[in-house]
Amino acid sequence: MSVSAPLPAAPTVAPDQSVRAPLPVLGRDVTVPLVTGGEVGYAALDYAASAPALQRVWDDVAAYAPYYGSVHRGAGYLSQLSTDLFENARGTVARFLDCRDTDQVVFTRSTTDSLNLLARALPADCHVFVFETEHHAALLPWNDARLTCLDAPRSPEQAVRVLERALADRAHHGPALVCVTGASNVTGELWPVRELAAAAHAHGARIVLDAAQLAPHHPVSVRDLDVDWVAFSGHKLYAPFGSGVLAGRADWLRAAEPYLAGGGASRAVTRRSDGGVDVEWHDTAARHEAGSPNVIGAYAIASACRALTEAGFDGLVARERHLVRVVRAGLAAVPGVRVLSLFGDDAPRVGVISFVVEGWNSSHLAAALSAEYGIGVRDGLFCAHPLVRTLLGGDPQVQGVCGSPDAAPGGTPLNAVRVSFGAGTPDEHVERFVTAVRELVRDGAQWTYRTENGRCVPAV
Ligand code: PLP
Repeated sequence: MSVSAPLPAAPTVAPDQSVRAPLPVLGRDVTVPLVTGGEVGYAALDYAASAPALQRVWDDVAAYAPYYGSVHRGAGYLSQLSTDLFENARGTVARFLDCRDTDQVVFTRSTTDSLNLLARALPADCHVFVFETEHHAALLPWNDARLTCLDAPRSPEQAVRVLERALADRAHHGPALVCVTGASNVTGELWPVRELAAAAHAHGARIVLDAAQLAPHHPVSVRDLDVDWVAFSGHKLYAPFGSGVLAGRADWLRAAEPYLAGGGASRAVTRRSDGGVDVEWHDTAARHEAGSPNVIGAYAIASACRALTEAGFDGLVARERHLVRVVRAGLAAVPGVRVLSLFGDDAPRVGVISFVVEGWNSSHLAAALSAEYGIGVRDGLFCAHPLVRTLLGGDPQVQGVCGSPDAAPGGTPLNAVRVSFGAGTPDEHVERFVTAVRELVRDGAQWTYRTENGRCVPAV
């Protein structure tokens, strides 16, 4: 790439002594072509969407695969082995989440699936409280007629105050549920889950923690946080084999109609003389797992839970904090960059950072990072439209997608760029990202881009 003037020195961030090597993940040797010529090692910086599989998870799945068999009623040796592994995976997840002895671990497809399951299991008159800042998976599954969507708070303390007031003011004193994220998929900021749980319980409500972005980065303790349920996705926890988890209190799950009706969820089925069918449903986790379960998905999640626990969250958190500092310091040194934040610069956060650059359309910047530097980030509103619009500040004023620069100075951008990373990210990836943003903002893109289906792509 030609550079017109020497770059100002990149800010240096002193390494943290507790920082260790990244955990081995698949894809670390993959190279991708650049439009400007040649190939480069792919820098996967979209962990918040889907993280690469841990090598350890892949190895465990490969070792188990020849022994894969039908679960639950199979009489053969491999069926019994697979049933044991599937059922033991619940115990591993329960330990990973530090669940109560009475909690159930239900295997689902994803966080979205888990929260939809819970939404169907709510008592009929249950009222739900969410903040507008939630991911759509936590904003949309609820009955709109019994939903209160709260304004985005500007500090963790304000979040607790707003929730307390809303719960105290509710006219209806039946069952209530609060749904809150542990870490924002837009800003990476940590939410005051323990305090929100205390507020919910003080007002007779229950709480479900959306841990999709928290569990891959931080230890989650159901007992310590005192949440009633936790939901997360395997594909964000380095186990992309199609499974997710809903873990927590058994009573509402047991009382609810099965999420799906079918085999596996039913204990006994009899044909009535009037032509109908009677069914006795399981009251274990199987009640909500009808159909043949995704054994490999559950096994992979259990493997990831073990791998992260053995690696130790203290080291993982310290390492990620270092990467966050490198990215934030790097972006702060680039003119025109605005990092999106609800709770301010000092708020604790995971490795998820969204930003806009004055004069740049985010889709254009993300396309250039990919095509010219081999860096995979994400642009858009990240399935959290109300939050991102609030953070961007009003209606978009940026026109077109691929011009550079194409936003009037001071104009409200259409969308943002998100960079996200985790346990498998080498320092070089975030350093390359910071350098790339600095070069693109200073020199402009080297290639020409055009709009195709609303997205920015390199013009061939
Ligand atoms: N909750 C949060 C905070 C997320 O970031 C996401 C996905 O990005 C989800 C829920 C939904 O996860 P999934 O797509 O795996 O169902």
